[in-house]
Amino acid sequence: APAFDLNALREDFPILCREVHGKPLVYFDNAATSQTPRQVIEMFNDYYSRYNANIHRGLHTLADEATAAFEGTRETVRAFLNAEDSRQIIFTRGTTEAINLVANSWGRTNLAPGDEVLISMLEHHSNIVPWQLLARELGFTIKVIPVDVDGALDMTAYRTLLNERTKLVAVNHVSNALGTINPVAEMATLAHEVGANILVDGAQATPHQTVDVQAIDADFYAFSGHKVYGPTGVGVLYGKRELLEVMPPWQGGGEMISTVSFEVDTTFAAIPHKFEAGTPAIAEVIALGRALEWVQGVGLGAIGDWEQTLLSYATQQVRKIDGLRILGTAPHKAGVLSFVVDGAHSQDIGLLIDQLGVAIRTGHHCAQPLLHHFGVDATCRASFAAYNTVEEIDTFVASLKRVINMVR
Ligand code: PMP
Repeated sequence: APAFDLNALREDFPILCREVHGKPLVYFDNAATSQTPRQVIEMFNDYYSRYNANIHRGLHTLADEATAAFEGTRETVRAFLNAEDSRQIIFTRGTTEAINLVANSWGRTNLAPGDEVLISMLEHHSNIVPWQLLARELGFTIKVIPVDVDGALDMTAYRTLLNERTKLVAVNHVSNALGTINPVAEMATLAHEVGANILVDGAQATPHQTVDVQAIDADFYAFSGHKVYGPTGVGVLYGKRELLEVMPPWQGGGEMISTVSFEVDTTFAAIPHKFEAGTPAIAEVIALGRALEWVQGVGLGAIGDWEQTLLSYATQQVRKIDGLRILGTAPHKAGVLSFVVDGAHSQDIGLLIDQLGVAIRTGHHCAQPLLHHFGVDATCRASFAAYNTVEEIDTFVASLKRVINMVR
């Protein structure tokens, strides 16, 4: 049993009461988007009913209240990541935008032909494509850290790939496709030894474990609200202060300037506002703050432990299914179970199991290079969250067996 009251916790999630095709919903697509507790949903009602106003520029009460709540969330996120200073927290639309910000601001000013950016075989497309787009323009080289048969990063290869030309290591903390947890602190130390910076994509780590950006010594760290019980449309970029301060703005507009003139050069606001052009997703940011408080109220340690229990039980159960192969068997894994079944297409499994009320993900999980490496185009992926139960895994496994029998 989990260290928290599972029934009480489930009551926080209105969506868990719904039925799908006449069956109770079993939601195992948490790595794509986690569900949202009512405490977070209520923040939207509260914001739009009481203090909806644009931030930073108003001199009226509503604007002050909205600004205080928005900036208060910056402090909540600072504490959540254990950053030194809340000015190191930049609000973005999500992990994807955070990585694009680093690529277009830091990357554009620091990367040139001859330089190398190291990414890994495990990356989500959002930590591949921004670097490919930039490499096409600037002419630097992208190198890929390989994985072993279990889907763990080959650290020997990583050490060999690192050299004085390496300017950036961009790697995820936890793989969305396989669940592998990468040794990012060790990778940071090694990157720093050759003078490279490290960007950690924490989209899949923040929902499952306590993250300490100072202990990792990450130069950049990104995550998305909607994977950590918060809303869509908001995410975070953390950066080291000395890097952020000298990075040029990426997007221009209101909020990010100091003075604008046609005669002399326009000057920019200090961090973090330099990187927050335009009206941000105010309600979403405030709701994200509530989500992080909710998570910390339950306790990330307890959540991670419970998900490990679910993962090992589910792994044990699906292993009994004939012809089922699990992809991603690294010793350090988050609650992600990716698998393929002989004689049954992943898409067919996904569609049919949905008819039984079970939501899993099928496809390439935005990690096509990784799946090709394992010789498949698609997998089925079940991924767990705090509110999932052992009974749900039993339903999932029974449904999976039924579906496999139907398609084989
Ligand atoms: N990185 C990883 C590891 C992810 O799992 C995801 C979302 N699937 C992303 C990046 C992109 O996040 P978003 O779509 O919220 O920007």
